[in-house]
Amino acid sequence: MDNVITETPKPDKELKELIDKSNSVYWDNFDGETWFGRCIFLSWYCSKGTCTFCFRSVTKDKIKEPEKARRSLASVIAEAMMIKGLGWRIEFLTGGYGILDDDEIKRIVKLVSQVLEEPIWINLGEMGIELLEEFRPYVQGLYSSIETLEPNLHKKVCPDKPIEPYVDMIKNSEKLGYKNAITIIIGLGEKREDFPLLENFLKDNKIKRITIYALRPVKNTPFEHGPESTEVAWWISKTRIVFPKIEIIVGTAIYRVPEISLFLEAGANAITKLPATKMFNTIDAMTVENEFKKAKRNFTGKFTSKNIYEVADWEGMLNRIDVTDEERIKIKETLYNYLDSMNKKACKLFDSCEI
Ligand code: SF4
Repeated sequence: MDNVITETPKPDKELKELIDKSNSVYWDNFDGETWFGRCIFLSWYCSKGTCTFCFRSVTKDKIKEPEKARRSLASVIAEAMMIKGLGWRIEFLTGGYGILDDDEIKRIVKLVSQVLEEPIWINLGEMGIELLEEFRPYVQGLYSSIETLEPNLHKKVCPDKPIEPYVDMIKNSEKLGYKNAITIIIGLGEKREDFPLLENFLKDNKIKRITIYALRPVKNTPFEHGPESTEVAWWISKTRIVFPKIEIIVGTAIYRVPEISLFLEAGANAITKLPATKMFNTIDAMTVENEFKKAKRNFTGKFTSKNIYEVADWEGMLNRIDVTDEERIKIKETLYNYLDSMNKKACKLFDSCEI
């Protein structure tokens, strides 16, 4: 497994020139507003479970009762409330295959969209046009988890998740007026020569947003090491230069925080994949905020707060969603568990707290 990254990695001369160029393309097209994208997971089980880099590939057989490997509605909605209240954005709502039925998913999508007061992005695997229709008006865009576009590598790392059904979904969703996004992972074994495959895919499918993840190492899989930060930065820079207006979100990790400023300078719009609720009001959270400053970006959300109870109208948020009284009580309890824990950390971090 990887060592902790303690300082921002330095690009070599060639990469530095590329980053300078992509940074300038970024500033020609965006205003510096930078956010943290929080992904909402619905479950930790996936009936496929065969993608060789995914933690679900090593946990699938240990889950004896898949129907229980899902989050409660209260915890999903409380998390959406924190996204809204702390000025983060939803990266997408996701969950492994084969765990929730369509009606449950539709209800959750609707409730999360009500909390956030906007249509959301979802990443729920490939879906047929009928189901896609039913997500209106609560969804603005769909993610396709492509992971890598090199065909042989794709077959190896995602043996049961072919790309073609996603391409069909992208075509259907475009017809219905949704935006499309893809995810790719750097560190699976791709080569820089593969960039044209990505470029063509983004062009051919009119992709509006891409999330580029630095591979998260998972013990007992073939992938116990993540990529160099500079390699991820190369892919961000190349993508930014060829697609000046595309939204680029980059997935990092708590042990890689100092790479964030490098990724932003390479032209990313936002970051994702940090355990933000756990990190909130810690030294690591302060380091994240500092990374945004280093890249001269305006971070629109919060990773620290002296008075978490006052940063948002939590009660108002709770009152505007279509849930039963019983569900509302549970959501409130779950939310305040999170907020109380964040507040406790504030007392330590700031040497004082409001309550
Ligand atoms: S389909 Fe998604 S959740 Fe399932 S094993 Fe593959 S990457 Fe993991």
